[in-house]
Amino acid sequence: MKNVILRIDTKDKVVRVSAPFGCHHDLIVEIVRKHKEKIKSRFSKRAVFDISEPDLSEGGLIPFLGQLFRLHIEHIEYTTARNVSINHEDRTITLFVCSNDSKRELFHILTQWYFKNFRNILIPIIDKYAAKVGRKANTYGIKIVNGYWGICRNRAKSIIFNLKLIAMPSEVIELIVLHEHVHLKHFNHGKDFKAEMTRLMPDWKHREDELKSYQRYFI
Ligand SMILES: [Zn+2]
Repeated sequence: MKNVILRIDTKDKVVRVSAPFGCHHDLIVEIVRKHKEKIKSRFSKRAVFDISEPDLSEGGLIPFLGQLFRLHIEHIEYTTARNVSINHEDRTITLFVCSNDSKRELFHILTQWYFKNFRNILIPIIDKYAAKVGRKANTYGIKIVNGYWGICRNRAKSIIFNLKLIAMPSEVIELIVLHEHVHLKHFNHGKDFKAEMTRLMPDWKHREDELKSYQRYFI
């Protein structure tokens, strides 16, 4: 039945099936069932790498710089001691929270931790690539957004980075940082833009492919 096509839309979380007119309903259901595991893994991958939808249950998978960490929740007595710690050896992220903290509170604590880490990771990368390009923005910002990884507002000379990049490997973060700085020189993605990218990051196309492989699960 090569005419039955499944489209897995990870953004809207639906599976669209197109089948020839007259195709029996049971047959369509059977085909969808046959692909159940594939569909499940596509949905879970998206959720796993999207920091705006983290699995905040004990043992849930939390992304950080292209790797996945197991979440451990530790209960503490005082709200002032709320904290996050990461252990690279046993690949865990521990949230120190109060027992009556809601999922929303947990999300807030984790997001603040992501913000703090992303800022620390970004600063040296920005310094490095701003020097290479020979341009620096007047202001830099971090936001959780849908639709872009980075954006350069040329007139205001401001660059915003999407916090969701924290889930990506650092070479992908570097790609976005360089891309936005090259925009301070070349507004569009034309020949000059591409030549500058190649000059400063010879493997930038390879990094873009890596970005695309994650992109399906994010925006
Ligand atoms: Zn661009």
